[in-house]
Amino acid sequence: MDTTREYYLTWLRDAHAMEEQAITMMEGMAARLEHYPALKAKILQHVEETKGQLAALQSLLDRADTNSSMVKDTMGKIAAKGQAFGGMFTTDEVIKGAMASYTFEHMEIAAYEVLIATAQKLGDVEAVTVFEQILQQEYDMAAWLSDHTPETTDIYLSRSEADLEAKR
Ligand code: MG
Ligand code: FE
Repeated sequence: MDTTREYYLTWLRDAHAMEEQAITMMEGMAARLEHYPALKAKILQHVEETKGQLAALQSLLDRADTNSSMVKDTMGKIAAKGQAFGGMFTTDEVIKGAMASYTFEHMEIAAYEVLIATAQKLGDVEAVTVFEQILQQEYDMAAWLSDHTPETTDIYLSRSEADLEAKR
């Protein structure tokens, strides 16, 4: 039981750091997008959702009375800055960004599936409910990105062929 509880807290802190990273990456991408209004609006909407996710995770952390999440969060933010800039300034940054976002959502889905199984093992019904609500938001975002990848790609290629700025 103690072992499971320790893993639960570790993975909960990891999820909190992951969501802070998500906000940094999405805000960086949205700020640069100019020719993809639907993608930009969806990303900004998910930023707002993600802020709610962070607050919910923070409540679970506060309830568990942990205090060592700060160091990891800071490291997560630094890593996110590096990743946000990693895909920037390439000629196809919107495509690289769309692919990275899709990948990131699935990492989130996996993380919450692990947390749900762990919270179930601990009999923590409240935590399971929180994670299931967040998981649904990640599924929805992943599905939207998947549905709109053809459109994003088409805009990118059409603008490129017309010698218009396409990369963002
Ligand atoms: Mg999230
Ligand atoms: Fe997400």
